[in-house]
Amino acid sequence: MKRSLLLLLSCFFLSCTAVQPPCTPYTLSAEPPKYFVILDYGHGGFDCGAIGHDTGVAESELNLLIGERVARALEDRGCFVLRTRTDADALAETKRDDMARRGAILCTDGADCTVSIHMNKFSDRSVKGPMCYFQAGSEDGKALAQCVIDALCLSIGRDPRLANPGNNFVTRLPSVPSVLVECGFLSNPEDERSLMDPAYQQRIADGIADGVIAFLQKEDPSGSEGPLD
Ligand SMILES: [Zn+2]
Repeated sequence: MKRSLLLLLSCFFLSCTAVQPPCTPYTLSAEPPKYFVILDYGHGGFDCGAIGHDTGVAESELNLLIGERVARALEDRGCFVLRTRTDADALAETKRDDMARRGAILCTDGADCTVSIHMNKFSDRSVKGPMCYFQAGSEDGKALAQCVIDALCLSIGRDPRLANPGNNFVTRLPSVPSVLVECGFLSNPEDERSLMDPAYQQRIADGIADGVIAFLQKEDPSGSEGPLD
């Protein structure tokens, strides 16, 4: 009796485990993702980043809102997207630990590029518009940043501008092309008003996604041949 119950239970357990779906993120998609993009939404939790001069909006909140729009736009274009955060919280309790975890995610093996989303602030309130930073000395990073700022300016109807060299943690650390996007200035009245508007947020996100895809297609028109395939 006891033995047959055991047998029955183990058959039940085996049949349960046998029907478990495979543990991959692509089970619902017919096509394997073409590219692997890591998205980093700046700040979060205790670290608000810049604060909107007129509305008091936290940069961390806009980074998440616009970042998620970028993520969906990239997924719609056939990318696999890994986010450094998916909610309003920081990644750790201290800035140092937060940046360490962010850095580890940004260096995940197999990525084609990384994109960090931020909002700008400056003492001169007339300064406005998006900017894209690449790691100074990185030709790939420069090409990615220029593709993104070109598509971003086109999407929001601004004159084209050059990508800027910089030396930031989020562009210095990854070994793949990396860009830091400053979507606009929270110190500028016009930019702040626009950045609060969902339709403008979507235009920013579509522009960033278009730029990333344009860069990746130039680099590898057939899609990545990494472990994701
Ligand atoms: Zn920031």
